[in-house]
Amino acid sequence: MAVEQKVRELQHFINGSLVPGTSGKYSNVYNPCTGEVIAHVPLATREEVRDAIEKAKAAFPVWKKQSAGKRAEVVQRFRQLVTENIDELLEVICEESGKTKEDARGEITRGLESVDLAINVAHMTKGEYSVNVGGGINAFSAKYPLGVVAAISPFNFPVMVPLAQTSMAVAVGNSVILKPSEKVPISALYISNLWKEAGLPDGVWTVINGDKEAVDELLENKTVQAISFVGSTPVAEHIYQKGTSFNKRVVALGGGKNFMIVMPNADLEKTANAFLGAAYGAASQRCMAISGAITVGKETADRFVAILKEKVEKLKVGPYTDDTVDFGPVITQQSKDAIIQAINKAVDEGAQLVVDGRNPSISQVSKGFYLGPTLFDHVTPGMEIFEQEVFGPARIVVRVESLQEAIDLINDHELGNGVTIFTNNGAAARKFQEEIEVGMVGVNVPIPIPVGYHNFGGLKRSKFGDGVMFGPDQARFFTKVKTISERWIEEDEETSTTFAFPSNEDAK
Ligand code: NAD
Repeated sequence: MAVEQKVRELQHFINGSLVPGTSGKYSNVYNPCTGEVIAHVPLATREEVRDAIEKAKAAFPVWKKQSAGKRAEVVQRFRQLVTENIDELLEVICEESGKTKEDARGEITRGLESVDLAINVAHMTKGEYSVNVGGGINAFSAKYPLGVVAAISPFNFPVMVPLAQTSMAVAVGNSVILKPSEKVPISALYISNLWKEAGLPDGVWTVINGDKEAVDELLENKTVQAISFVGSTPVAEHIYQKGTSFNKRVVALGGGKNFMIVMPNADLEKTANAFLGAAYGAASQRCMAISGAITVGKETADRFVAILKEKVEKLKVGPYTDDTVDFGPVITQQSKDAIIQAINKAVDEGAQLVVDGRNPSISQVSKGFYLGPTLFDHVTPGMEIFEQEVFGPARIVVRVESLQEAIDLINDHELGNGVTIFTNNGAAARKFQEEIEVGMVGVNVPIPIPVGYHNFGGLKRSKFGDGVMFGPDQARFFTKVKTISERWIEEDEETSTTFAFPSNEDAK
């Protein structure tokens, strides 16, 4: 007889402790591999969010006064705890997201790059100093933390994206409120305990669970100074517009439609191998997943599709408990239904179905949200599957006759997150880098996600606002700059009144 698993009742993490929700509203958290509800996550009311914000505000003055070195020590300890607990954290990520262990390990490793960058907080927040800018005056610019800041995260990277959004924010001295995706809240609560164990003062780190209602309070509350959002483009646009209308600093990263240009001189066997992992890994639930290939020339297209078909048909989908699977299920039944709908629509619109993944055979766990890999050929602009992000394993091939045509198609697309070219021709690669209107660009690199010390972010409708994830600009996003002009007048020095506008004259 099967042992019935107990559904866990999750809480918020406020002021250093787990706190039960009081709204009476909750959302189901699933194990996508089995389709079972594993937890209920409380959905906070505006009042609960307000209370959490007040606690975060109260913690701010103490944390911001700690030296950069002391703050870095806490972040360093947090990093150590993540690595010490990596096996348990992997299990948590896999259970609530359905991704494979290998993939989850990669996510943690990349997330730690953001933590590493944050450990360098002292260097990242150094100011500028100029002596004798005029009248015996020295001037300096210094970075100060903003106060209470918030991060709102998507489901597809339960640890990496929250770490990328929050590590630097914490390190520079802010109090940080994370609103994780209600689909994967367990990982966020797990890392909350690690922050506490690392010695972060109570109230500096908060996890508030919820949906639109909780987010609305974060966007409208005067105490919240900045919002870092990662999620789908329509929500990103809404967050950016509303957050900025409440005079907050906002960066909102949205979805992607990321193409791989396949040139006639590319090694098609190697290119197909690169395509497979980048396109179908994590069941294609990555903002940087390759959405499709744009093949240049008929012969390239025919050969590439033939090679791909054979490889795609062999991909194995299944639960993370099976080490031999290539990718797992999608996040919910609702998501699976939406992907099937997108595939049906593409068939109706005349795309050629090369591999059909709508009914995968999964022997052990049929109730999970599984989809096999789908591949379309002869997709053209205007078809919904070309224009829209499909957040699941349905990928496409678009045929063009020249590199210029490929570049134009990509540049005309409304999204501009990631892109790559596979070629052996340096001149083609250079033209592509120069002309392409996309934020993260690869040359023979299938998923060109920048390392933590370079900026991360798309262009066009893949990103709203001027901020970034990762990189040196992130320290700037989470701080405000004050420029101070300073003069010390000697006792015997003569001064006079001037009604003229201050200029760079000698001291008087
Ligand atoms: P989503 O937009 O549905 O949700 C993201 C967050 O916003 C969640 O915390 C959710 O609770 C909240 N939210 C949802 N609807 C809201 C609303 N109407 N008002 C306020 N808050 C709302 O995204 P998702 O499905 O969780 O994640 C997948 C999407 O995220 C994909 O489009 C993917 O491309 C994108 N993504 C982008 C990046 C990037 O770096 N550009 C990284 C990861 C994921």
